[in-house]
Amino acid sequence: MPKTIFKKIIDKEIPAQIVYEDDQCLAFRDVAPQAPVHVLVIPKREIVSLNELSDGDAELVAHLYLVIRNLARELGLANGYRVVLNCGRDGGQSVDHLHFHLLGGRQLTWPPG
Ligand code: 5GP
Repeated sequence: MPKTIFKKIIDKEIPAQIVYEDDQCLAFRDVAPQAPVHVLVIPKREIVSLNELSDGDAELVAHLYLVIRNLARELGLANGYRVVLNCGRDGGQSVDHLHFHLLGGRQLTWPPG
């Protein structure tokens, strides 16, 4: 299987504006931001989508959410923000590596399209 674009970012083969990194995950700015703050938070382990998470990944998922919470604070999103996970083609997922979008810095509209 060819590497996904996110795996290449994890392996530092292509550049990204990294805002946070630890042994389990990486957070970097989206190349096509949809809000003043648009960060992607991804596990370093290759997991295709939410569908491929196993019951044993509960701690990893909790960790990812806590990283998102911390980043929202650090990036000045005191007025609120949105966390989005697109799953599968109908869900709008375009990169086959699990990722959370952290969006904020403007009033976000609802419902999404
Ligand atoms: P999805 O549509 O799969 O939920 O989100 C994928 C996101 O990855 C999109 O918002 C897209 O702009 C972003 N993206 C795609 N390729 C790259 C890249 O090479 N670098 C960065 N930083 N973001 C990317």
